[in-house]
Amino acid sequence: MEHWQKIFQNNIRSYDELRELIPLPNTLSPFPKFPLNIPRRLVEKMEPGDFNDPLFLQFVPLASELIATPGFVNDPVSDEAAARTTKLLHKYKGRALLLVSSACAMHCRYCFRQKYPYEKDVKEYEKELAIIEADPSITEVILSGGDPLSKGNSALGLLLEALDAIPHVKVIRFHSRFPIGIPERISDEFISLLKGISTQIVFILHVNHARELDADVVQSMKKLMALGIPVLSQSVLLRGINDSLPRLKELVLSLIHAGIVPYYLHQLDRVQNTAHFEVDPEDGIALIEQLRKEVPGYAVPTYVQEIGGEASKTPLHSVECLQA
Ligand SMILES: *Cc1c(COP(=O)(O)O)cnc(C)c1O
Repeated sequence: MEHWQKIFQNNIRSYDELRELIPLPNTLSPFPKFPLNIPRRLVEKMEPGDFNDPLFLQFVPLASELIATPGFVNDPVSDEAAARTTKLLHKYKGRALLLVSSACAMHCRYCFRQKYPYEKDVKEYEKELAIIEADPSITEVILSGGDPLSKGNSALGLLLEALDAIPHVKVIRFHSRFPIGIPERISDEFISLLKGISTQIVFILHVNHARELDADVVQSMKKLMALGIPVLSQSVLLRGINDSLPRLKELVLSLIHAGIVPYYLHQLDRVQNTAHFEVDPEDGIALIEQLRKEVPGYAVPTYVQEIGGEASKTPLHSVECLQA
């Protein structure tokens, strides 16, 4: 077993285990359908007893999850309509997204793919690789999930080699949150795997709060940058977590100070039982406009919403801005 896999095995998966580390409120969701799963390092970062702590709110299932809100559905971004197989989504020109694994280092309570009909145990990608190979319009393959880094290095290595062997695939992009929970995942073995392939790699780290970016996480990203891999970030705008100017500013400044370029700020995808995380898009637009006045231009992420059936993510702008 790889070192990071032992850490992962040791994740907190029950309220009893969690209660040994931090006090819990009496507003927990009694039987969360999307199970509790938190790496110990993230629990250690929570302020004990602060039930509004931005890390606590992201990972601990609360009774607010039990509320079913109209408009909040199982497949908010029409993934299933874009599925060429259950593991390959082809939504946008030139890019195909491979669901490498259904597992993640942690379960974010707002996860938009928490109800995706994953295959039980993703092992083979033969069909998906054949589709990519037969379609020269696919020049970028996004490894997503779940989290692609939940896969062990041997399986991931085989997949990377297979993609590297397809001449029209020019970029292999990782979408991952794994290093935020378990930075040890960016191990020497993983780095050697990446060194072994010649296709350009791009790494997009999912991070929502400055406190997620500690020295170990930043070190893990620097290892990727040292290989010439651009590291960008994506965040979800979340009520009570990063929807204020000070928090958003601290997040993007922490990112650029670590050499990570903010890419997207996502409007919440309306998956069932997550309405309590939603921020009004008008407020999101106002926040981005305020942020733009405070930080370098390259520190301002593009604020986007994913609308099923559209040819790209949809940037959110103010109406005044469009009329000007
Ligand atoms: C978001 C997404 C992408 C990537 O879109 P970019 O705008 O290039 O970052 C690709 N495929 C799917 C299915 C996506 O949801």
